[in-house]
Amino acid sequence: MATVGPRGSGRRLGICFAAMAALGLGSTGAAAAGDAAALLDQAYALKTTDHSRFLQLLRQLHQSDVALSPDQQWRLRYLDGWEGSFTGDYAAAQPLLRDVADHAPDTDLQALAAGTLLNTLAISHHYQEAFERADKLVANLPHIRDRKVTYVALSQLSQLMASAQQVEPAVSYARQMQQLAEPGQSPCRPDVYLFDALNADGTLPPTAPIFRQAIDACKAAGELMFADAVELDLARRLAETGKPGAALVLLEQIAPTIDAQGFQVHAYGLRSTLGFAYWKSGDAAKAKRWALAALAMDPKGNFDGMSEYVYKVLYEVARQAGDDRAALDYYRHYRDVKARSVSDAQAIAMAYHSVQQQLSVHQLQVDALGKQNGVLELQQALDQKQIETTRLQLLLLTTVLASVGIWLVRTKRSQLRFRRLARRDGLTGILNHQNFLGEADAALRQADKSSRSACLALVDLDHFKQVNDTYGHAIGDAAIVRMVTLCQEHLRSSDIFGRLGGEEFGLLLPDCPLEQGLELLDRIRLALADTPIDDRHPELGISASFGLASTGTGGYQLSELMAQADAALYRAKRAGRNRVEAVTEGG
Ligand code: GH3
Ligand code: MG
Ligand code: MG
Repeated sequence: MATVGPRGSGRRLGICFAAMAALGLGSTGAAAAGDAAALLDQAYALKTTDHSRFLQLLRQLHQSDVALSPDQQWRLRYLDGWEGSFTGDYAAAQPLLRDVADHAPDTDLQALAAGTLLNTLAISHHYQEAFERADKLVANLPHIRDRKVTYVALSQLSQLMASAQQVEPAVSYARQMQQLAEPGQSPCRPDVYLFDALNADGTLPPTAPIFRQAIDACKAAGELMFADAVELDLARRLAETGKPGAALVLLEQIAPTIDAQGFQVHAYGLRSTLGFAYWKSGDAAKAKRWALAALAMDPKGNFDGMSEYVYKVLYEVARQAGDDRAALDYYRHYRDVKARSVSDAQAIAMAYHSVQQQLSVHQLQVDALGKQNGVLELQQALDQKQIETTRLQLLLLTTVLASVGIWLVRTKRSQLRFRRLARRDGLTGILNHQNFLGEADAALRQADKSSRSACLALVDLDHFKQVNDTYGHAIGDAAIVRMVTLCQEHLRSSDIFGRLGGEEFGLLLPDCPLEQGLELLDRIRLALADTPIDDRHPELGISASFGLASTGTGGYQLSELMAQADAALYRAKRAGRNRVEAVTEGG
């Protein structure tokens, strides 16, 4: 890609004529500069609506770079970076965006570049830099002049925090977007960001009002892609929470728009969610058909990060049909996808913590006040024409950035099906998923250094859905709490205990050979069988299945141990539940 930049201006005069000739422009420098401005405006306006024309304009602008003022060269450079981020060429995009974010003289352009850069960094797993830059962007928020730029920046920050499961700042940024929206502006975007923030850990109850609020707002505004995104999540949550019928109705409703729009992320999500919902509704044939349809869409594995449910459904269906060879094959894929997402979650959590963003909501609100005053003053200072041009450009920018952002959130969400980073689980007070992973990883490294053994166990309550269905959610919650207290009675202070999901727990036991782990888990299992859950329902007993892996067979990599324990847990469930299975050689 040809590069332009204010620092290359030494050759300006020499290339000027060639550029004007190429454009068929007049012979005065002033006319060329004016046309360059028009070309830039056009390019901004057409980026998404007419992408091939946009590329043509970019080429023209490059041929005429001599005629660009330094400000215009920075804008062109931003457009080049934007183009790379849009097409997924992050290696080309990132240096350009970094340059604009760090050196452009205009604060607003800097913020736009920083925002686009944040997304590409997170998508390409450069979390450390993403959080560092997020920090800087937050510090710059009060200096942004145009409220639409602030709005875009807030949306980028909200997405990044949501992808790192940082619910509180993600929600705070989304709410600030809502406040910044102008009268008459559709609440669709802010609602979708708020929804994404609230559902950052993927566990929002399908009855949460924000689902409908965001869907309705986006439909009313004709923003169908955004409505689809939320509806896909709603369908997944319905299927996950025992309402696959309702999920299927919803999916059938949105299928035509999704397929008509041709947005691949959603088309893939539609198929994988249909497969999952059919599986949950007991229709193995249709489940398999849709899961295979998802795979067929993605021969290059671009959506691998979203394929957890696809492979899970396929291996469950194959098992049920007695096709053990296919089941094993699909299971291995499933395991790999999960292992990768565990490493990814660890990476993002580590990056987040090491950057140690001090993003207290209080600080943000103070900043927001300062910023709003600044915006008012500066808007008055700008002449009307300038405001209009910027507005148009930024409106389009918001559209594009938001779609790139939705990419990020969708992909990340599916990759990282983890709980929020707030350290403790709200119901039980033990570590949540993300922090369990962090602490377990640290303990494993420690064990590795001193060549000591450790065990990793996964625990999942049996037929828990039935407990909820029969006795209600409150009793279900009580059973989860009971299970946790009981485990704690058997654990040492050095053991690490976390809630990985609804009724799934993880245990990392340092200084623990496999046999000792087996004994401990069996003690917990037997104690659980003896434990009444609720005085009002003496007949209610619960059991759990346990999968155990140890550093002796699995090494010191957390993702590998998790995968092995998961495989063992799966065998325990298959073998009839209420039992402990340990990993065997080869997982
Ligand atoms: P299996 O023996 O195969 O594990 O069956 P299961 O029913 O336990 O597994 P499934 O994954 O189908 O269902 C898990 C259920 O756990 C579904 C959901 O309603 C329930 N659940 C998840 N989180 C919570 C929670 O926080 N509280 C309560 N009460 N229930 C929860
Ligand atoms: Mg269960
Ligand atoms: Mg479970």
